[in-house]
Amino acid sequence: QYVPGLTGIKDRGNEIQIGARVTHREIERSATLTDRVPILPTSARHIAHAQIRTRGTLGGSMAHADPSGEWPTVLLALGATMHVTGPHGDRTIAADDFFDGPFTSTMSSDEILTHVTVPTMRTAWSFQEAALKAGDYGLALIAATGTPRDGVLTDLRISVGAAVSSVTRLASVERILVGVPLTAALAEEAAAVASKAVTPISDIHGSSDYRRKLVGSLVRRAVVELKNGA
Ligand SMILES: Cc1cc2nc3c(=O)[nH]c(=O)nc-3n(C[C@H](O)[C@H](O)[C@H](O)COP(=O)(O)OP(=O)(O)OC[C@H]3O[C@@H](n4cnc5c(N)ncnc54)[C@H](O)[C@@H]3O)c2cc1C
Repeated sequence: QYVPGLTGIKDRGNEIQIGARVTHREIERSATLTDRVPILPTSARHIAHAQIRTRGTLGGSMAHADPSGEWPTVLLALGATMHVTGPHGDRTIAADDFFDGPFTSTMSSDEILTHVTVPTMRTAWSFQEAALKAGDYGLALIAATGTPRDGVLTDLRISVGAAVSSVTRLASVERILVGVPLTAALAEEAAAVASKAVTPISDIHGSSDYRRKLVGSLVRRAVVELKNGA
């Protein structure tokens, strides 16, 4: 926490830059993010409890790449860019290329994450989490973002976490929702497609069958919220 230069939330116009050392609590309370990328403060409130949110950082959570962590799912849905540095210089990693399985990222062991940039134009969004109780890790997470244009969403991204062994996009669901008016019937169809598309994990907190149903329900809710933002 004493490495300088990894802090701050900066509005760069089309994107917001968030330092790796920024805590979950800072994101939760950021007026800039509440105004510009509200899915971030909203989902931050689902991370454990205030004590954890005050210590845990965006960079630590992303480097940890826990599929049950809120940030991996949300940053994948936002299409964020990870900025890393190491002995061989600086490079960027798109969210689509950042996760390499459970608890594994594509950063090298000699690299650190310095900051993350998130686009500001994906103004339709939804974050859905099912947890046994408030503050617990979720059993299933769904994050969705899109760019509204003429009543439909372009460039839709929907990701799933917690129910699966590694965060992943629901490409088959994105395909049926992009560029068309979102209706209740389409929300039902999206839920069914999502349930079929995932390979859920099973553990003491929830069976794979239960998580499959949760994923469907959360996708249905996400589509309804996206419709309101389109
Ligand atoms: C009781 C408890 C409940 C929790 N519940 C949740 C929850 O509901 N949801 C959730 O998302 N998280 C949860 N967490 C995780 C927590 O929010 C932190 O994100 C996580 O513990 C990482 O902590 P940290 O940011 O201090 O990183 P650290 O513990 O310092 O680091 C984690 C790992 O990442 C590496 N690392 C850290 N920063 C960087 C960087 N900038 N570049 C490269 N590597 C780096 C470290 O070397 C280490 O290997 C919980 C944690 C606890 C203890």
